Amino acid sequence: MNDLLGEIAALKKQHNAVILAHYYQDSEIQELADFTGDSLKLARAATKVANPTIVFCGVHFMAETAKIMNPEKRVLLPDLKAGCSLADSCPADRLYRYQEMLRANGRRFQTVAYINTTADVKALSDWIVTSGNAEEVIRRVPADQEILFVPDRHLGQYLQEVTGRQMILWNGACMVHEIFSVGDLLAQKRQLPGAKTIAHPECPANIREHSDFVGGTEAMIRYVEGFREPADFLVATEANMLWQLQHQTPRHHYHPVPGITCACNKCPHMARNTLEKLRDCLADGGPEIDWRPEFGRARAVLERSLLN
Ligand code: SF4
Repeated sequence: MNDLLGEIAALKKQHNAVILAHYYQDSEIQELADFTGDSLKLARAATKVANPTIVFCGVHFMAETAKIMNPEKRVLLPDLKAGCSLADSCPADRLYRYQEMLRANGRRFQTVAYINTTADVKALSDWIVTSGNAEEVIRRVPADQEILFVPDRHLGQYLQEVTGRQMILWNGACMVHEIFSVGDLLAQKRQLPGAKTIAHPECPANIREHSDFVGGTEAMIRYVEGFREPADFLVATEANMLWQLQHQTPRHHYHPVPGITCACNKCPHMARNTLEKLRDCLADGGPEIDWRPEFGRARAVLERSLLN
């Protein structure tokens, strides 16, 4: 293990690379990264570093977003097959056909896409949102236009509840957040009656309605920091997030909410990235995210939505 960490450090120096890691990566990858964060924070961090090479430890759409925001840099992804069930649920050709059908029926709408989408879907959208800015963006869409929200139906339902704005919802979901067990959550709450439940808005309504706080990963970090005395938190998001919460605010106790089929929920796509693949991609200079023409339109939508 120490040899491997030493190799990664030496290769990183040799190639003047910076390592970015999502909060859903295994703890040993988060621990050695130069920056950790959600996909938006990491894409923004990538624009501020001088290093010519960025190794993005996350899934494909995240590395793609980092490339879109940093076209002049080399962006590497340890495993090119690290996908995402949400991004996969909304292929660009299906979205395009659906938009055309709505237009043919005289519907006037704007498309709001969650950042967990491919560059081609971003390029077909009017707005890109994260769990952090989605409410604000939805309030900016003119009232005389409908909203087509893609791809997460659970996040879309949550946004309907908090903004009061009805939307046309795409039928996608995150395979990790969709399967938290409400029965196990209620049993945990009985065992720890003082614990606060924090849930990601990608969770279904039956988990959100039993939660004290609903927010993305950055908002979760801020929420637990606000508790000055040690407290217990039941956490309904990808299980590696508990390491980051523990790292940033160690005075609390964090308990993963179990999934229906497993004791804790880990994303199998994120898990494709390993220390060995991280070393190999630094050594080989690949796999790399190549620039494609669609990235130009996706960049314009991203900048309008996220940088203002
Ligand atoms: S946790 Fe869900 S949304 Fe995040 S990368 Fe994995 S499948 Fe996609």
